[in-house]
Amino acid sequence: MIETNNILSNRVINLKASATFAMSQKARSMKAQGIDIIDLSVGEPDFKTPNYIQTAAKEAIESGKYFGYPPAAGYKELKEEIVKKFRNENNINCEIDQIIVTNGAKQALSDSFFCLLNPGDEVIIFAPYWVSYTAMVEIAGGKPIIVQGSSSNNYKVTAQQLENAITSKTKAIIYSSPCNPSGSVFTKNELLEISEVLLKHKNIITIADEIYEHINFTGEYFSLGSIDTIEDRVITINGFSKAFAMTGWRLGYLAAPKFIAKTISNLHGQISFGASTISQRAGISALKAGKEKVKYMIDAYKERRNILIDYFNEHLPNIKISKPDGAFYLFPDISFYFGKTDGEQTINNSTELSYYILEKAKVALVSGETFGYKNCIRISFAASKQDLIEAMNRIKDVLLKLK
Ligand code: PMP
Ligand code: GLU
Repeated sequence: MIETNNILSNRVINLKASATFAMSQKARSMKAQGIDIIDLSVGEPDFKTPNYIQTAAKEAIESGKYFGYPPAAGYKELKEEIVKKFRNENNINCEIDQIIVTNGAKQALSDSFFCLLNPGDEVIIFAPYWVSYTAMVEIAGGKPIIVQGSSSNNYKVTAQQLENAITSKTKAIIYSSPCNPSGSVFTKNELLEISEVLLKHKNIITIADEIYEHINFTGEYFSLGSIDTIEDRVITINGFSKAFAMTGWRLGYLAAPKFIAKTISNLHGQISFGASTISQRAGISALKAGKEKVKYMIDAYKERRNILIDYFNEHLPNIKISKPDGAFYLFPDISFYFGKTDGEQTINNSTELSYYILEKAKVALVSGETFGYKNCIRISFAASKQDLIEAMNRIKDVLLKLK
């Protein structure tokens, strides 16, 4: 009999399945058994990829020109569009050899960690954080250092907190803005304050995950990579999955200092090669058409956010909730229910509450523990209004049973 513990590497032996996917898989298998589940667990647009993007992909196939390997760092035409996008929308000045096209933003993130981390290097992760950051840092041999943003500051970490967390072992910092899961968006002033701290630490690279950039209800957006005093120490991550409803196309990108971009390109050459050719051709049309063409989706997310916030305020006043400025998640504080029971089951934490809601209300959500914030729960509103209202009615009914 093979001893499995002696086979797997130390790097992956304790690796868990992504909690967001684990919950959505559970919801899917319950659905397959005929159970009427509403799945608000995984963060995936409920819209179809727009037609003009689909058309570009079909034309790419029909042309017969894109069946071979692409360049490892991405097609030149796509990288040119990305450079333009960064310049026009983010005020980030970069050259084409600073851009790498990736298999989703996920690969852009893991590329960055693999190229930066040596065993024991610390990565400061702003919490609440997206679930895969800690896993990726650990696989790459780094040590996650979690710094929690306070709920009174809309879950945002301050420059002072960052300064306090930096040690001689700090190699990198990562955050998302808009944040998955809290929806918070860093303001220009907050990022300028953070840049003052970074200015003192020349060997720390900050990874700014801007994948939800366009799903922003504030009308204002600022990128850390646009601050010229630190621009040579920032990797900006973005992609097509969220704003363009292209999760399945697996297309993302990053802008990095040249020496890092060159190394990532070499890494691609060795372990994955470039992102799918057809997806890249589709990506060119998405960027050329720009964000105005996908505004209908952003407007819909905003409307759903407002409906949900009103619902919570009216029907579930014991839940503390802040209005997310972006992304498509609510991250309410549900700690009021800890220690309460429906007569059969006592709820002790947010994981137990998420399973209680799954079993009793048949709604799939993700526990805040997954995101480093144990008092909260994440609700994705990338679902139809009808499903959201039905889900909220069901959640309310089962929560009101907890005494
Ligand atoms: N960053 C964040 C904050 C995310 O929520 C996600 C979720 N998909 C990703 C990166 C990865 O996106 P992609 O689908 O482009 O790999
Ligand atoms: N980013 C989405 C989420 O947080 C998709 C799932 C994942 O990539 O883990 O739910």
